[in-house]
Amino acid sequence: MQIQMKKEEIVASKCIQQKSKISEHAISIRNCIFCRIVKGEIPCARIFEDDKVISFLDISPANKGHALIVTKGHYETLLEIPDEVLLDVMSKAKKIARAMSSALGNKGFNIVMNNGKAAGQIVPHAHIHIIPRFDRDGMNVDWKHKKYNDKEIDEFRGKITRFL
Ligand code: 5GP
Ligand code: ZN
Repeated sequence: MQIQMKKEEIVASKCIQQKSKISEHAISIRNCIFCRIVKGEIPCARIFEDDKVISFLDISPANKGHALIVTKGHYETLLEIPDEVLLDVMSKAKKIARAMSSALGNKGFNIVMNNGKAAGQIVPHAHIHIIPRFDRDGMNVDWKHKKYNDKEIDEFRGKITRFL
């Protein structure tokens, strides 16, 4: 009987946790600027839309024509995006990058995705940046290259592969 009670209590507490996760999710969607753009509550310079993604120009571009591809569902980072949505995101990124290059004559483009605050993500709704690049456009995605000591590269390889 006691064991049965405990099981019920565990189920009840899991339900409460689940409910609070759902309401947290609902609050983040209500306050999310990209969800509001998806719903049409906030205007955007839309360039493409299908059932899974929307693409529009970044309001504050790194170069003019800088586009964002945004999942229609509210996923915070790459890690939460279901694979079938991700396939659509990447295939539309290619389509938009090609159209952008034809239209603007850029010879290259950067695809950037910031995942998490530490990586510079400001809007916590998954999105990919496509930035047209021109010779001497003054934009920089350069980083300082660090060095591994001795066997450190093997340690890092080992650490990561254990989770794959
Ligand atoms: P993050 O750093 O999160 O990867 O980049 C978010 C991007 O969204 C920024 O480049 C920012 O300029 C853009 N952005 C933020 N709010 C809006 C908005 O209301 N409309 C549009 N079009 N872009 C936005
Ligand atoms: Zn959102």
